[in-house]
Amino acid sequence: MVCKDCENNGVYISLSGRSLCPRHFKRYFETKVMRTIKKYDLLRYGEKVLVACSGGKDSTALLNFLWNLIKNKNGGIAAISVDEGIAGYRDIKLRGIVKFCEEREILIHIYSFKEYYGFTLDEAVKISKENKLDLKPCYICGILRRNLINNVAKELGFSKVATGHNLDDEAQTIMMNYLRGNPSLLARLGPKTGVVSNEGFAQRIKPFYFCTEKEDTIYALLNGIEVDFVQCPYHVENYRLEIRDFLNRLESTIPGVKHGLVNNFLRILPLLKKEFSASRVERCKICGNPSAKNTCRACMIKMKLEPFLKRVD
Ligand code: SF4
Ligand SMILES: [Zn+2]
Ligand SMILES: [Zn+2]
Repeated sequence: MVCKDCENNGVYISLSGRSLCPRHFKRYFETKVMRTIKKYDLLRYGEKVLVACSGGKDSTALLNFLWNLIKNKNGGIAAISVDEGIAGYRDIKLRGIVKFCEEREILIHIYSFKEYYGFTLDEAVKISKENKLDLKPCYICGILRRNLINNVAKELGFSKVATGHNLDDEAQTIMMNYLRGNPSLLARLGPKTGVVSNEGFAQRIKPFYFCTEKEDTIYALLNGIEVDFVQCPYHVENYRLEIRDFLNRLESTIPGVKHGLVNNFLRILPLLKKEFSASRVERCKICGNPSAKNTCRACMIKMKLEPFLKRVD
């Protein structure tokens, strides 16, 4: 199909059936992201932003976008990548993001679970299984990665942490928390996360919030970002995968269902934030970070694993 704005061939067809060529698709995508940044006040002139990069296409495309937006402005931008210690997966992903940053001279901070916490994710999963600790890989991974990035952002003076989450990711997270009955976790979602502004947290922002997975992929490809399909060995244990497949099936029969889910969620989000902003936020008695309980979830995980750490082969 020919692009709706020129004579060139289209690479993308929108929900309303309109086709866009590479140049006009890029314009459409970047306009949408800039609107999100402005509408939700994600970034201000002169702010320092740390981009959380997994080595996947979404976060690399986001780094590319923000780098082009900020590099000549007053603010600061750097990337951060976490090596959780997942053999045969993260090492491959990290090679790609390091090369990407070197080519553009973007400063990248790399931290590993092993150095930061004293164990790799693979080791933690092994311990948990052997000792029936009931700590799922994605639970350990997600909480410890967020904790590490938040701590580093504060130490290095970054006020914002940008993540490559897109509309598909958000629709999955909304659905997961609805089904699990987690309203307090729902209250933490949205383009700018967190319930209360707290000096212990660097604010997390999602500039690609309204871009679909498909749009992200096309944008990444058009910017020369390699899209690889290496998967984490633990992804099969991920509840998100089932929700993702369910939503994709639904979207193929009811186009626009993910947009509907996210947009309707955003209408009730202010009420959820109001309800849960009243929740107590204490300081973790171990690390001092803000926490709903007197020990934060990162410290809870470390405490559970600690007695078994010496026995790791
Ligand atoms: S699938 Fe789970 S364990 Fe693997 S990188 Fe993602 S969150 Fe971590
Ligand atoms: Zn065009
Ligand atoms: Zn803690």
